[in-house]
Amino acid sequence: MTEIEAKCPNCTKRATVDENLTQVNCRVCGFTTSYEDYLEIMKSKAVQMADDLQMDWDKS
Ligand SMILES: [Zn+2]
Repeated sequence: MTEIEAKCPNCTKRATVDENLTQVNCRVCGFTTSYEDYLEIMKSKAVQMADDLQMDWDKS
């Protein structure tokens, strides 16, 4: 059985994806979500980070 590693969006520690790519589970904080939702969360987090960078650029 192979486990795919993911980054927990809740505690940023290591989370695991099951082999069917349906469920993401973090053993550290107990965060569980569907893989589809996980991708959406990570996508919105990336957008947030890009926005923060943009703000930093505007300041300087
Ligand atoms: Zn976690």
